Amino acid sequence: MPDVSADHPTDASAAHASSLGAYTTLRLGGPASTLTVVSEPDEAVSTVRGAARKGQPVLVLAGGSNVVISDDGFPGTVLLLRTRGVRLIDRDDRGALVRVAAGEPWDDLVADTLERGMSGLEALSGIPGSAGATPIQNVGAYGQEVAHTIEAVHVYDRHEDEMRVLSLPECGFAYRSSIFKHSDRWLVLDVDFRLAESAESAPIRYAELARHLGVEVGERVSAARVRETVLKLRAGKGMVLDPEDPDTRSVGSFFTNPVLSAAEWARVQDRLVDAGEPPSWPAPNGTVKVPAAWLIEKAGFAKGYGGSTVAISSKHTLALTHRGGGTTTALLELAREIRDGVRDRFGVVLHPEPVLINCSL
Ligand SMILES: Cc1cc2nc3c(=O)[nH]c(=O)nc-3n(C[C@H](O)[C@H](O)[C@H](O)COP(=O)(O)OP(=O)(O)OC[C@H]3O[C@@H](n4cnc5c(N)ncnc54)[C@H](O)[C@@H]3O)c2cc1C
Repeated sequence: MPDVSADHPTDASAAHASSLGAYTTLRLGGPASTLTVVSEPDEAVSTVRGAARKGQPVLVLAGGSNVVISDDGFPGTVLLLRTRGVRLIDRDDRGALVRVAAGEPWDDLVADTLERGMSGLEALSGIPGSAGATPIQNVGAYGQEVAHTIEAVHVYDRHEDEMRVLSLPECGFAYRSSIFKHSDRWLVLDVDFRLAESAESAPIRYAELARHLGVEVGERVSAARVRETVLKLRAGKGMVLDPEDPDTRSVGSFFTNPVLSAAEWARVQDRLVDAGEPPSWPAPNGTVKVPAAWLIEKAGFAKGYGGSTVAISSKHTLALTHRGGGTTTALLELAREIRDGVRDRFGVVLHPEPVLINCSL
């Protein structure tokens, strides 16, 4: 099975020699004080415990596809998580319960479960990174998110120095968020997914996907067809990693879609002169979710905007890409320019989706 981080180095000696950029999809970031590659959960826990005893900060890094690391690197221990294992541990009328080690490559897991006749992850095809990172921001795409299938998350609680099993409600999943995000308390070791034992997909929830499949929202089709269609859609937007294509050297979406209160939404609508009505989706408690990509484009930042080293992807307005020879400083300057442009035009503040390590926006 390929490494979680595609063509990234995996052995400890290579790890010590490199800057952290080598372990990220952006290919940006300075060195760590200490870098430890772990392939066993016990080793992961003892490394974190050992660093805590010495009062050293710890950064857990897996696929490096959702982090922006400072040019100064990380002043502590970086734990490169490479644990493996997928086990069927239970079956009942709700489906199969599959326990997945945190370091398993996510897209291999999606492909593997579909091949074994299990569905529920198909719309999440083509997302880079590890299985253990999916609960961190409740990974989602094309109408599916991991909160739909996660039954439990097995963690080491760094604050209480104990192993715990968190149930779905305890994970606090929301749009690109959970109790795990922006917290140094949890080391995810395994994730339990409850998957349907069916070759049919979960109901299609996303209009663009339904259109490409030629079905109505709410219908089911073959899960394998959903995977194939999602991979094509994603590739067209530079959202499948391709080492040859600088448009994919990103963290995926750099900003989350803003969720606005009724008052904020009314304010945006007041400022829409000449911009047209944006697409929007109703969100919980009377709020409205607006596509960040639409706001960015209407604020004057087109696809390809930027300089020779960092620029908006030529395929997707939400992806900030590193074209080569760039720095995290330059990437964050571009991100600030876009955030400020959207705020000045619409009064909406965009928030970064990736985790910023030792740097800020
Ligand atoms: C081209 C591209 C497309 C993308 N498309 C999507 C998309 O459609 N939807 C989506 O939601 N995301 C998307 N992403 C973002 C990213 O792939 C996901 O968030 C992914 O789950 C990150 O996994 P990772 O292993 O790379 O995490 P990393 O980048 O290594 O880590 C991300 C964060 O999680 C923490 N972390 C990682 N593993 C653990 C663990 N075991 N325990 C505790 N903390 C941990 C890290 O400390 C860090 O804070 C995309 C990224 C790229 C580059």
